[in-house]
Amino acid sequence: MKRKVLVVADLRANQLRNVSLEALGGANTLADGGEVAAVVIGHGVSSLVQPLSEHGANHVYVIDHADLAQYVPDAYEAAVSQAIEAFDPQVVLFAHSAIGRDVAPALAAKHKAGQVSDIIHVELAGDDMLFTRPIYAGKAFAKVKASGHVVFATIRPNNLPMPEQTSEQADVVNIDYAAPANLRTKVREVLKKASSGVDLSEAKIIVSGGRGVKSADGFKPLYELAEVLGAAVGASRGACDAGYCDYSMQIGQTGKVVTPDLYIACGISGAIQHLAGMSNSKIIVAINKDPEAPIFKVADYGIVGDLFDVVPALSSEARKV
Ligand code: FAD
Repeated sequence: MKRKVLVVADLRANQLRNVSLEALGGANTLADGGEVAAVVIGHGVSSLVQPLSEHGANHVYVIDHADLAQYVPDAYEAAVSQAIEAFDPQVVLFAHSAIGRDVAPALAAKHKAGQVSDIIHVELAGDDMLFTRPIYAGKAFAKVKASGHVVFATIRPNNLPMPEQTSEQADVVNIDYAAPANLRTKVREVLKKASSGVDLSEAKIIVSGGRGVKSADGFKPLYELAEVLGAAVGASRGACDAGYCDYSMQIGQTGKVVTPDLYIACGISGAIQHLAGMSNSKIIVAINKDPEAPIFKVADYGIVGDLFDVVPALSSEARKV
């Protein structure tokens, strides 16, 4: 059954996050030969039309306005609603990011529509759309059949295959942003934290530290390994609670959910709440001095040893490659 599917592009510092292109792949499957559109919302974002166009969007809506330079829920919701009105889709896909998790359910409620969250796979079964999502902290997977006049869904990064790049050109439609009358929030200032520059939720490799690193300084060898591998640095809540690192690095049930190609857990015991955020990583390497640590049950490769010996040795070997 041909459908119209709208992808809401997810941006970070005015750059397109890969999950937006992955969502276009999912959109093409769900559209079943119908039409796929993407909407870019922000300020100074017109250069993002091209990659969306080259990765399967038949139409690209651009809503570019100074008031949209920073994420403000009411403003963003109004902008997405304008794109929905213009395209009239049966499915609206967001990234399962801070913005997608905020806006998608609000819009689903507004449209009296269903919402499926944290999708890792989409498929068609006849005329039905099936969405796969992890449940019970990643211990099982549910296949959800979604129907209704419009379905809202959020896509977990690093799971849907990115469509091949083509030379197709989408038709581009500029929409004049109509600010809502009762805008309740305004961003006055943005204070940026220093970061390694690699986006944790989209990173292909993550080096992660737990309470075993013992101090903020104990993260240094992990940062060195991450630099050699081009990886992001994450942490367990144990490490965050102990004050060794910032909570923005926390991975797990109450932190970020990640699916990198390689996850290197250093001095992390493997509590169920941590596994909820990383157990779907493609390859897991665990470094722990306790051979009984539960992390070894989910690890593809386990190194029993002191992380302060093993991590520098890995960095030095990786530098030789
Ligand atoms: P520990 O359990 O103390 O493990 C430290 C490990 O380091 C041990 O296995 C030890 O053998 C090893 N070690 C020590 N020294 C060395 C060394 N020199 N070399 C190698 N190994 C060494 N946790 C999360 O991570 N993310 C979450 O999102 C999260 N959400 C939670 C939500 C709720 C509601 C609750 C109740 C808990 C949550 N937790 C979460 C906490 C979770 O239960 C664990 O307490 C936490 O993950 C433990 O962190 P850890 O593995 O770093 O520390």
